[in-house]
Amino acid sequence: MIPYSRQTVTEEDIDEVVKVLRSDWLTQGPAVKQFEQSVADYCGVSYAVATCNATSALHIACLSLGIQSGDEVWVASISFVASANCARYCGASVNFVDVEPSTGLISLPDLARLLKIADKNGKLPKALVAVHLAGQSCAMQEIAQLCQHYNVRIIEDASHALGGKYQGKPIGNCEYSDLCVFSFHPVKPVATGEGGMLLTRSANIERKARLLASHGIERLPENWVHPRKSEWYYEQQFLGYNYRLSDIHAALGVSQMSRLDERIQSRAEIAQHYNAYFSTGAGTPLLRSDGCETSHHLYIVRFDSPLLRDNIFSRLRACGFGVNLHYMPIPEHPYYQTMGCDMANYPGAVEYASTAISLPLFQGMDIDVVKSVTAIVTQEIAKLN
Ligand SMILES: *Cc1c(COP(=O)(O)O)cnc(C)c1O
Repeated sequence: MIPYSRQTVTEEDIDEVVKVLRSDWLTQGPAVKQFEQSVADYCGVSYAVATCNATSALHIACLSLGIQSGDEVWVASISFVASANCARYCGASVNFVDVEPSTGLISLPDLARLLKIADKNGKLPKALVAVHLAGQSCAMQEIAQLCQHYNVRIIEDASHALGGKYQGKPIGNCEYSDLCVFSFHPVKPVATGEGGMLLTRSANIERKARLLASHGIERLPENWVHPRKSEWYYEQQFLGYNYRLSDIHAALGVSQMSRLDERIQSRAEIAQHYNAYFSTGAGTPLLRSDGCETSHHLYIVRFDSPLLRDNIFSRLRACGFGVNLHYMPIPEHPYYQTMGCDMANYPGAVEYASTAISLPLFQGMDIDVVKSVTAIVTQEIAKLN
Protein backbone atom coordinates (compact mmCIF):
# COMPACT_ATOMS: atom_id res chain seq x y z
CA MET A 1 0.00 0.00 0.00
CA ILE A 2 1.35 3.45 -0.96
CA PRO A 3 0.19 5.72 1.90
CA TYR A 4 -1.21 9.23 1.49
CA SER A 5 1.72 10.42 3.60
CA ARG A 6 4.60 9.02 5.59
CA GLN A 7 7.59 10.15 7.63
CA THR A 8 11.17 10.46 6.42
CA VAL A 9 13.72 9.42 9.04
CA THR A 10 17.40 9.76 8.11
CA GLU A 11 20.48 8.09 9.58
CA GLU A 12 21.33 11.46 11.16
CA ASP A 13 17.94 11.48 12.89
CA ILE A 14 18.64 8.01 14.26
CA ASP A 15 22.11 9.04 15.47
CA GLU A 16 20.65 12.01 17.35
CA VAL A 17 18.12 9.79 19.13
CA VAL A 18 20.82 7.25 20.02
CA LYS A 19 22.91 10.05 21.54
CA VAL A 20 20.07 10.81 23.93
CA LEU A 21 19.72 7.14 24.82
CA ARG A 22 23.40 7.14 25.83
CA SER A 23 23.08 10.41 27.79
CA ASP A 24 22.02 11.15 31.37
CA TRP A 25 18.60 12.45 30.35
CA LEU A 26 15.75 10.58 28.72
CA THR A 27 13.31 13.32 29.61
CA GLN A 28 13.45 16.92 30.85
CA GLY A 29 17.01 17.28 29.64
CA PRO A 30 18.59 19.65 27.11
CA ALA A 31 16.95 18.24 23.95
CA VAL A 32 13.47 19.53 24.79
CA LYS A 33 14.80 23.07 25.34
CA GLN A 34 16.73 22.84 22.09
CA PHE A 35 13.67 21.64 20.18
CA GLU A 36 11.51 24.43 21.61
CA GLN A 37 14.17 26.97 20.68
CA SER A 38 14.56 25.66 17.13
CA VAL A 39 10.81 25.79 16.41
CA ALA A 40 10.44 29.22 18.07
CA ASP A 41 13.37 30.59 16.04
CA TYR A 42 12.04 29.10 12.81
CA CYS A 43 8.63 30.68 13.39
CA GLY A 44 9.90 33.97 14.80
CA VAL A 45 7.91 33.72 18.03
CA SER A 46 9.02 34.36 21.61
CA TYR A 47 7.74 31.29 23.44
CA ALA A 48 7.32 27.59 22.68
CA VAL A 49 6.21 24.81 25.01
CA ALA A 50 6.75 21.22 23.85
CA THR A 51 4.07 18.68 24.72
CA CYS A 52 3.54 14.94 24.26
CA ASN A 53 1.20 15.51 21.30
CA ALA A 54 -0.84 18.29 19.67
CA THR A 55 -4.04 17.15 21.36
CA SER A 56 -2.57 17.91 24.79
CA ALA A 57 -1.18 21.22 23.47
CA LEU A 58 -4.70 22.14 22.31
CA HIS A 59 -6.09 21.19 25.71
CA ILE A 60 -3.67 23.41 27.63
CA ALA A 61 -4.11 26.12 25.01
CA CYS A 62 -7.80 26.24 25.97
CA LEU A 63 -7.01 26.12 29.70
CA SER A 64 -4.41 28.89 29.35
CA LEU A 65 -7.13 31.12 27.89
CA GLY A 66 -9.32 30.32 30.89
CA ILE A 67 -11.86 28.27 28.96
CA GLN A 68 -14.15 26.38 31.29
CA SER A 69 -17.62 24.99 31.79
CA GLY A 70 -20.22 27.51 30.66
CA ASP A 71 -18.00 28.86 27.88
CA GLU A 72 -18.44 28.16 24.21
CA VAL A 73 -15.65 27.51 21.69
CA TRP A 74 -16.09 27.64 17.92
CA VAL A 75 -14.18 25.30 15.64
CA ALA A 76 -13.72 24.93 11.89
CA SER A 77 -16.17 22.24 10.78
CA ILE A 78 -13.54 20.42 8.68
CA SER A 79 -10.68 19.18 10.84
CA PHE A 80 -9.46 16.30 12.93
CA VAL A 81 -11.70 15.80 15.97
CA ALA A 82 -8.94 16.90 18.37
CA SER A 83 -9.50 20.51 17.23
CA ALA A 84 -12.91 20.39 18.94
CA ASN A 85 -12.32 17.86 21.73
CA CYS A 86 -9.87 20.21 23.48
CA ALA A 87 -12.76 22.52 24.39
CA ARG A 88 -14.85 19.60 25.63
CA TYR A 89 -12.00 18.52 27.96
CA CYS A 90 -12.45 21.92 29.65
CA GLY A 91 -16.20 21.41 29.96
CA ALA A 92 -16.95 24.08 27.37
CA SER A 93 -19.56 23.58 24.68
CA VAL A 94 -18.53 23.44 21.04
CA ASN A 95 -20.07 24.96 17.96
CA PHE A 96 -18.83 24.84 14.40
CA VAL A 97 -18.16 27.38 11.67
CA ASP A 98 -18.71 26.34 8.07
CA VAL A 99 -15.84 26.14 5.56
CA GLU A 100 -15.36 27.27 1.98
CA PRO A 101 -15.55 24.10 -0.16
CA SER A 102 -12.83 25.48 -2.45
CA THR A 103 -10.23 25.65 0.34
CA GLY A 104 -11.63 23.64 3.24
CA LEU A 105 -10.82 26.67 5.41
CA ILE A 106 -13.11 28.69 7.71
CA SER A 107 -15.68 30.69 5.76
CA LEU A 108 -15.30 34.38 6.62
CA PRO A 109 -18.90 35.25 5.69
CA ASP A 110 -20.20 32.42 7.90
CA LEU A 111 -17.95 33.49 10.78
CA ALA A 112 -19.09 37.12 10.45
CA ARG A 113 -22.75 36.05 10.28
CA LEU A 114 -22.51 33.76 13.32
CA LEU A 115 -20.65 36.36 15.41
CA LYS A 116 -23.30 38.94 14.68
CA ILE A 117 -26.11 36.58 15.73
CA ALA A 118 -24.22 35.41 18.84
CA ASP A 119 -23.53 39.00 19.85
CA LYS A 120 -27.21 39.87 19.53
CA ASN A 121 -28.15 36.85 21.68
CA GLY A 122 -25.42 37.55 24.24
CA LYS A 123 -23.85 34.15 23.51
CA LEU A 124 -20.47 34.99 22.04
CA PRO A 125 -17.82 32.26 22.10
CA LYS A 126 -14.75 32.68 24.27
CA ALA A 127 -12.42 31.38 21.55
CA LEU A 128 -12.19 30.26 17.95
CA VAL A 129 -10.04 27.33 16.78
CA ALA A 130 -8.85 28.13 13.25
CA VAL A 131 -7.43 25.17 11.31
CA HIS A 132 -4.80 25.55 8.57
CA LEU A 133 -6.03 22.58 6.54
CA ALA A 134 -3.43 20.76 4.43
CA GLY A 135 -0.81 23.34 5.40
CA GLN A 136 -2.41 26.47 3.97
CA SER A 137 -3.08 29.32 6.40
CA CYS A 138 -6.58 30.64 6.99
CA ALA A 139 -7.12 34.36 6.31
CA MET A 140 -5.79 35.18 9.76
CA GLN A 141 -5.79 38.95 9.43
CA GLU A 142 -9.49 39.04 8.56
CA ILE A 143 -10.31 36.43 11.20
CA ALA A 144 -8.41 38.45 13.83
CA GLN A 145 -10.25 41.63 12.83
CA LEU A 146 -13.61 39.92 13.26
CA CYS A 147 -12.70 38.21 16.52
CA GLN A 148 -11.11 41.27 18.12
CA HIS A 149 -14.27 43.23 17.45
CA TYR A 150 -16.20 40.73 19.59
CA ASN A 151 -13.37 40.00 22.05
CA VAL A 152 -13.03 36.37 20.94
CA ARG A 153 -9.62 34.71 21.50
CA ILE A 154 -7.93 32.79 18.70
CA ILE A 155 -6.17 29.41 18.75
CA GLU A 156 -4.49 28.31 15.52
CA ASP A 157 -4.49 24.56 14.99
CA ALA A 158 -1.46 24.48 12.71
CA SER A 159 -0.91 20.73 13.07
CA HIS A 160 -0.49 20.56 9.27
CA ALA A 161 1.28 23.81 8.72
CA LEU A 162 4.80 23.96 10.18
CA GLY A 163 6.90 25.37 7.34
CA GLY A 164 4.00 27.18 5.67
CA LYS A 165 3.81 30.95 5.36
CA TYR A 166 1.15 33.65 5.67
CA GLN A 167 1.78 37.17 4.38
CA GLY A 168 5.38 36.10 3.80
CA LYS A 169 5.92 35.17 7.44
CA PRO A 170 6.09 31.71 9.02
CA ILE A 171 2.88 30.19 10.30
CA GLY A 172 3.32 29.95 14.06
CA ASN A 173 4.50 33.51 14.63
CA CYS A 174 1.15 34.29 16.33
CA GLU A 175 0.81 37.76 14.82
CA TYR A 176 -2.97 37.27 14.58
CA SER A 177 -3.64 34.75 17.34
CA ASP A 178 -3.16 34.12 21.05
CA LEU A 179 -1.68 30.69 20.51
CA CYS A 180 -0.61 28.34 17.76
CA VAL A 181 -0.28 24.55 18.01
CA PHE A 182 1.84 22.14 15.93
CA SER A 183 1.69 18.34 15.78
CA PHE A 184 4.69 16.06 15.25
CA HIS A 185 2.70 12.92 14.50
CA PRO A 186 4.58 10.87 11.87
CA VAL A 187 2.56 12.14 8.89
CA LYS A 188 3.00 15.80 9.84
CA PRO A 189 5.78 18.06 8.41
CA VAL A 190 8.12 17.29 11.34
CA ALA A 191 7.86 13.85 12.96
CA THR A 192 8.80 12.87 16.51
CA GLY A 193 6.52 9.81 16.81
CA GLU A 194 4.18 11.53 19.23
CA GLY A 195 4.73 15.19 19.95
CA GLY A 196 3.26 18.65 19.87
CA MET A 197 4.11 22.25 20.62
CA LEU A 198 2.30 25.36 21.69
CA LEU A 199 3.60 28.76 20.57
CA THR A 200 2.69 32.21 21.85
CA ARG A 201 3.89 35.79 22.11
CA SER A 202 2.46 36.10 25.62
CA ALA A 203 4.75 35.47 28.62
CA ASN A 204 1.66 34.89 30.77
CA ILE A 205 0.23 32.24 28.48
CA GLU A 206 3.62 30.57 28.23
CA ARG A 207 4.01 30.34 32.00
CA LYS A 208 0.49 29.00 32.45
CA ALA A 209 0.92 26.46 29.65
CA ARG A 210 4.30 25.26 30.93
CA LEU A 211 2.87 24.66 34.40
CA LEU A 212 -0.24 22.96 33.03
CA ALA A 213 1.95 20.57 31.03
CA SER A 214 3.79 19.54 34.19
CA HIS A 215 1.28 18.94 37.02
CA GLY A 216 0.76 22.62 37.79
CA ILE A 217 4.09 22.51 39.64
CA GLU A 218 6.08 25.72 40.00
CA ARG A 219 9.79 25.34 40.76
CA LEU A 220 10.86 28.99 40.46
CA PRO A 221 11.08 30.53 43.96
CA GLU A 222 10.16 33.99 42.68
CA ASN A 223 6.76 32.65 41.62
CA TRP A 224 5.94 30.80 44.82
CA VAL A 225 2.85 31.68 46.80
CA HIS A 226 4.33 30.54 50.13
CA PRO A 227 7.84 31.09 51.47
CA ARG A 228 10.31 28.27 50.92
CA LYS A 229 9.99 25.84 53.80
CA SER A 230 12.82 23.40 53.08
CA GLU A 231 15.50 22.36 50.60
CA TRP A 232 13.06 20.16 48.72
CA TYR A 233 10.24 22.68 48.55
CA TYR A 234 8.19 23.25 45.39
CA GLU A 235 4.57 24.16 44.83
CA GLN A 236 1.66 22.70 42.96
CA GLN A 237 -0.37 25.81 42.34
CA PHE A 238 -3.28 24.40 40.35
CA LEU A 239 -4.40 21.18 38.70
CA GLY A 240 -2.04 20.34 35.84
CA TYR A 241 -1.18 17.28 33.77
CA ASN A 242 1.84 15.35 32.66
CA TYR A 243 1.86 16.42 29.03
CA ARG A 244 5.64 16.71 28.71
CA LEU A 245 7.65 15.63 25.68
CA SER A 246 10.62 13.33 26.31
CA ASP A 247 14.19 14.12 25.26
CA ILE A 248 14.14 11.02 23.06
CA HIS A 249 11.33 12.51 21.00
CA ALA A 250 12.75 16.02 21.14
CA ALA A 251 16.13 14.91 19.76
CA LEU A 252 14.33 13.47 16.74
CA GLY A 253 12.47 16.78 16.43
CA VAL A 254 15.63 18.90 16.50
CA SER A 255 17.18 16.74 13.82
CA GLN A 256 13.99 16.77 11.72
CA MET A 257 13.76 20.58 11.98
CA SER A 258 17.16 20.91 10.30
CA ARG A 259 15.73 19.37 7.12
CA LEU A 260 12.21 20.84 7.21
CA ASP A 261 12.67 23.14 4.21
CA GLU A 262 14.21 20.33 2.17
CA ARG A 263 11.22 18.13 2.97
CA ILE A 264 8.74 20.82 1.94
CA GLN A 265 10.66 21.46 -1.29
CA SER A 266 10.54 17.77 -2.16
CA ARG A 267 6.77 17.68 -1.57
CA ALA A 268 6.31 20.88 -3.59
CA GLU A 269 8.06 19.32 -6.58
CA ILE A 270 5.83 16.24 -6.48
CA ALA A 271 2.75 18.47 -6.06
CA GLN A 272 3.76 20.25 -9.29
CA HIS A 273 3.31 16.98 -11.18
CA TYR A 274 -0.21 16.55 -9.81
CA ASN A 275 -0.94 20.23 -10.55
CA ALA A 276 0.17 19.83 -14.17
CA TYR A 277 -2.23 16.90 -14.60
CA PHE A 278 -5.17 18.61 -12.89
CA SER A 279 -4.66 21.82 -14.88
CA THR A 280 -6.43 19.93 -17.70
CA GLY A 281 -9.61 20.10 -15.60
CA ALA A 282 -9.79 16.48 -14.43
CA GLY A 283 -10.16 17.71 -10.83
CA THR A 284 -9.69 20.86 -8.80
CA PRO A 285 -6.82 21.08 -6.32
CA LEU A 286 -7.57 23.14 -3.24
CA LEU A 287 -7.53 26.81 -4.12
CA ARG A 288 -4.48 28.65 -2.85
CA SER A 289 -4.84 32.16 -1.46
CA ASP A 290 -2.52 35.01 -2.35
CA GLY A 291 0.28 35.45 0.14
CA CYS A 292 -0.08 31.90 1.46
CA GLU A 293 2.66 29.34 1.02
CA THR A 294 1.51 25.87 1.94
CA SER A 295 3.65 23.37 3.84
CA HIS A 296 2.36 20.80 1.31
CA HIS A 297 1.25 18.60 4.17
CA LEU A 298 -1.53 17.03 2.08
CA TYR A 299 -2.34 17.03 -1.61
CA ILE A 300 -6.11 17.42 -1.66
CA VAL A 301 -8.08 17.50 -4.90
CA ARG A 302 -11.83 17.83 -5.40
CA PHE A 303 -13.93 16.18 -8.09
CA ASP A 304 -17.06 17.33 -9.88
CA SER A 305 -19.51 14.99 -8.20
CA PRO A 306 -19.73 12.79 -5.10
CA LEU A 307 -20.26 9.77 -7.38
CA LEU A 308 -17.04 10.43 -9.28
CA ARG A 309 -15.15 11.03 -6.03
CA ASP A 310 -16.44 7.80 -4.54
CA ASN A 311 -15.53 5.83 -7.67
CA ILE A 312 -12.01 7.27 -7.78
CA PHE A 313 -11.55 6.74 -4.05
CA SER A 314 -12.59 3.06 -4.16
CA ARG A 315 -10.54 2.33 -7.28
CA LEU A 316 -7.40 3.94 -5.81
CA ARG A 317 -7.80 2.02 -2.56
CA ALA A 318 -8.35 -1.23 -4.49
CA CYS A 319 -5.19 -0.52 -6.49
CA GLY A 320 -3.07 -0.15 -3.35
CA PHE A 321 -3.06 3.62 -2.90
CA GLY A 322 -3.86 4.61 0.68
CA VAL A 323 -5.90 7.68 -0.23
CA ASN A 324 -7.99 9.27 2.45
CA LEU A 325 -10.49 12.03 3.22
CA HIS A 326 -9.26 14.86 5.43
CA TYR A 327 -11.77 15.13 6.96
CA MET A 328 -15.37 14.16 7.42
CA PRO A 329 -17.04 17.15 9.09
CA ILE A 330 -16.53 17.02 12.88
CA PRO A 331 -20.23 17.80 13.60
CA GLU A 332 -21.16 14.64 11.65
CA HIS A 333 -19.54 12.35 14.24
CA PRO A 334 -22.03 10.60 16.54
CA TYR A 335 -20.49 12.26 19.60
CA TYR A 336 -21.19 15.75 18.24
CA GLN A 337 -24.53 14.64 16.80
CA THR A 338 -25.65 13.80 20.35
CA MET A 339 -24.95 17.46 21.14
CA GLY A 340 -27.49 18.51 18.60
CA CYS A 341 -25.24 19.54 15.70
CA ASP A 342 -27.34 19.98 12.57
CA MET A 343 -25.50 19.30 9.31
CA ALA A 344 -27.87 21.67 7.51
CA ASN A 345 -25.79 24.45 9.10
CA TYR A 346 -22.65 23.31 7.29
CA PRO A 347 -23.38 23.09 3.56
CA GLY A 348 -19.80 24.07 2.69
CA ALA A 349 -18.34 21.30 4.83
CA VAL A 350 -20.77 18.74 3.36
CA GLU A 351 -19.89 19.76 -0.19
CA TYR A 352 -16.17 19.69 0.57
CA ALA A 353 -16.30 16.29 2.28
CA SER A 354 -18.35 14.69 -0.49
CA THR A 355 -15.92 15.69 -3.24
CA ALA A 356 -12.39 15.73 -1.75
CA ILE A 357 -9.56 13.15 -1.72
CA SER A 358 -6.05 13.32 -0.27
CA LEU A 359 -3.70 11.75 -2.83
CA PRO A 360 -0.32 10.22 -1.89
CA LEU A 361 2.35 12.88 -1.28
CA PHE A 362 5.54 12.49 0.76
CA GLN A 363 9.21 13.28 0.53
CA GLY A 364 11.01 11.06 -1.94
CA MET A 365 7.80 9.61 -3.42
CA ASP A 366 8.37 8.11 -6.87
CA ILE A 367 6.87 10.21 -9.68
CA ASP A 368 5.49 6.92 -11.07
CA VAL A 369 2.97 7.04 -8.21
CA VAL A 370 1.62 10.32 -9.63
CA LYS A 371 1.42 8.70 -13.07
CA SER A 372 -0.45 5.63 -11.81
CA VAL A 373 -2.84 7.66 -9.64
CA THR A 374 -3.69 10.14 -12.38
CA ALA A 375 -4.14 7.35 -14.95
CA ILE A 376 -6.78 5.83 -12.67
CA VAL A 377 -8.47 9.22 -12.33
CA THR A 378 -8.58 9.56 -16.14
CA GLN A 379 -10.13 6.08 -16.46
CA GLU A 380 -12.78 6.70 -13.83
CA ILE A 381 -13.78 10.01 -15.43
CA ALA A 382 -14.08 8.26 -18.82
CA LYS A 383 -16.33 5.55 -17.32
CA LEU A 384 -18.87 8.15 -16.23
CA ASN A 385 -18.93 9.98 -19.57
C1 LIG B 1 -2.88 15.49 13.77
C2 LIG B 1 -3.82 16.55 14.16
C3 LIG B 1 -4.14 16.84 15.49
C4 LIG B 1 -3.69 15.99 16.64
O1 LIG B 1 -2.33 15.82 16.67
P1 LIG B 1 -1.69 14.76 17.68
O2 LIG B 1 -0.25 15.23 17.74
O3 LIG B 1 -1.84 13.42 17.03
O4 LIG B 1 -2.37 14.87 18.97
C5 LIG B 1 -4.96 17.92 15.76
N1 LIG B 1 -5.46 18.67 14.77
C6 LIG B 1 -5.19 18.42 13.48
C7 LIG B 1 -5.76 19.33 12.44
C8 LIG B 1 -4.38 17.36 13.13
O5 LIG B 1 -4.15 17.08 11.84
